[in-house]
Amino acid sequence: MKARIKQGIAWALSIALLLSVTVFFALRSDVGLWIEQTMDVPPPMDLTPLSESPKGRTWSIEELCALEKVSASSLMMLVNATHPLPKEYEPTLTEYNGAQMHPLMVDAYVALRDEVQRRTGVRIYVSSDYRTAEEQKKILAESASGTAAPLGCSEHEAGVALDVYAPYYAGREFLKSPAGREVNRICGDYGFVIRYARDKEVITGILYEPWHLRYVGAPHAALMMEQDVTLEEYVELFAPEVWYKSGDYLILRTAKKEITLPWEWESAHVSPDNTGYTFFTVKIS
Ligand SMILES: [Zn+2]
Repeated sequence: MKARIKQGIAWALSIALLLSVTVFFALRSDVGLWIEQTMDVPPPMDLTPLSESPKGRTWSIEELCALEKVSASSLMMLVNATHPLPKEYEPTLTEYNGAQMHPLMVDAYVALRDEVQRRTGVRIYVSSDYRTAEEQKKILAESASGTAAPLGCSEHEAGVALDVYAPYYAGREFLKSPAGREVNRICGDYGFVIRYARDKEVITGILYEPWHLRYVGAPHAALMMEQDVTLEEYVELFAPEVWYKSGDYLILRTAKKEITLPWEWESAHVSPDNTGYTFFTVKIS
């Protein structure tokens, strides 16, 4: 009898040990991130349609873009197989540490990289930045289908995306490094989204790429990451010509060439979305 009890205890201990080892590895690996993201219930979306448009001064897009506190860019452009870059598209680029990217992305990228390093002790690096059509063509020729966007349909050609890696952990291995998982956890707070998200291949047309960072800025990135929506889905959340409020921001998606802004506002960002509308993102305090 005693021997059977001993045997039972030994079995129970072995199972407990096996379970703890499994849980330990799950929490310390990309499986851990997957569990975390799957279990995560997002808070109600901080995006409210306003019943009335703001009262204030009416501006033409040209007048607005001439102001120092307004930046105009392509950050909200939807670029995918069905929304290629306009033929006349010219990316706005600057160079940082040998990588070419939109000027508005530089500070955000540095802040994200430094915070990831502060939290994990590991520095991330850029492996792919802006690509010319020629470079995209070459990548297409070398890759399997579903892993690279068609010509003219890549966010890298738009100059608003970066592929990043941690030393020894690039591509599919990226999430096996604590730095890779941290990038995926916090990038939304720095204006970046994991553009080709897990389980969203049907919508994005591109396989999961936890290393591909697309810059959309605040507050869009945080909303998209928190609610787990792709840019395709996000753009459609905004009924045209309706103002929305999110935190300190007012957002309008419009086809009109002039808009009325409140008398007081701090800064604004103007970007076409490549679906026929322009996004105005206005910081009000
Ligand atoms: Zn990429």
